[in-house]
Amino acid sequence: MQLICDSCGRKWAMKRENWRCSCGEPLRWDSLMPFDPSAIEVSNWSLWRYKGMLKLPENAVPSSLGEGMTPLIPTPEKKSWFKLEFLNPTGSFKDRGASVLVTGMKAWEISEVAEDSSGNAGVALSAYAKAAGIRCLIFVPKDASEGKISAMKKFGAEIIFCSNRQEAAERVMDAVSSGIYYASHTWHPLYLQGTKTVAYELAEQMDWELDSNWSVFIPVGNGDLLLGIYLGFCELVASKIIKSQPKLVGVQALACAPIYAAIYNLTLPMSKTIAEGVAVVKPPRIKQIIAAIRETKGDVVAVSESAILNAVDEMAGLGLWVEPTGVTTWAAWKQLGKPPKSILLLTGAGWKTLAPSLSVERVEGN
Ligand SMILES: *Cc1c(COP(=O)(O)O)cnc(C)c1O
Ligand SMILES: [Zn+2]
Repeated sequence: MQLICDSCGRKWAMKRENWRCSCGEPLRWDSLMPFDPSAIEVSNWSLWRYKGMLKLPENAVPSSLGEGMTPLIPTPEKKSWFKLEFLNPTGSFKDRGASVLVTGMKAWEISEVAEDSSGNAGVALSAYAKAAGIRCLIFVPKDASEGKISAMKKFGAEIIFCSNRQEAAERVMDAVSSGIYYASHTWHPLYLQGTKTVAYELAEQMDWELDSNWSVFIPVGNGDLLLGIYLGFCELVASKIIKSQPKLVGVQALACAPIYAAIYNLTLPMSKTIAEGVAVVKPPRIKQIIAAIRETKGDVVAVSESAILNAVDEMAGLGLWVEPTGVTTWAAWKQLGKPPKSILLLTGAGWKTLAPSLSVERVEGN
């Protein structure tokens, strides 16, 4: 048995029907894959170079669009790094999870899937499903970014508009009970097999010199990215490839910060934020997220709307066009006084968000 429920202790095998526990709680990977540097397929410039270290259904054939192996570039101050996750094929790290999940679904011969998403997860799934010949339904809050909706449409997904994120999460379950497979970025265990490769890449890109002196800044909504990175680092530590776990610093928008509120024991109102990718009021894996942050002696930082907007401009000033959710790590790092030995994940591309406050004024003659 490879999956465990922290809530009731039941264990489950990795099979197509086991995407959550029978008690309703999310599952967690119970056993770690050993990490073997000599098993890296060094000529493969995608996350599939680590295929031997991924848990996959038998006879899985990668559904790949070249995701992963994103660049690591120095911050202007040189002592820290940006990881350019917005350079993935559809413009966000969600491509990592989508690639591995679609690979699994192909092996399980699934032909029709549904997902609820505020944007990037839906875009990534639409693209990978299209390329793999799988029919795809996405439940989207009606105020999701225009750019993300048009990308999903172009990739051939059927869009079902819902009044908000919560309603999308509820309505997708109706589709799932009628027999469509739930390709959830938040619930499906295979997704984390994709996002864990961020940890592998960071270690490889830093010549395996990562340890607890380093902090990795990660925007957190549902925690698929943070928990994947945590899993990857656990495997690297257990295999004695790196000495200790880097600190995981979760970043939230202050306007919607349930993890920040839980860790600091605060009661905070939950409202709208421009960082739509982390606008998650009730992350199903919140207990796992808090445990991962605490275990690595990390932290959680909440940033204001104006700090996020400034960060978009400051990143653009460095030539990096990153969406508001994706620059929250820069805002958080600044807020903490730019500590050295930090790695900031820039998670989503700017071209998909068309918020009016970010639009460019058109001046006649230009
Ligand atoms: C989804 C998303 C996040 C948050 O990821 P979670 O795995 O939900 O915590 C961060 N940044 C961007 C750009 C996203 O699309
Ligand atoms: Zn359970």
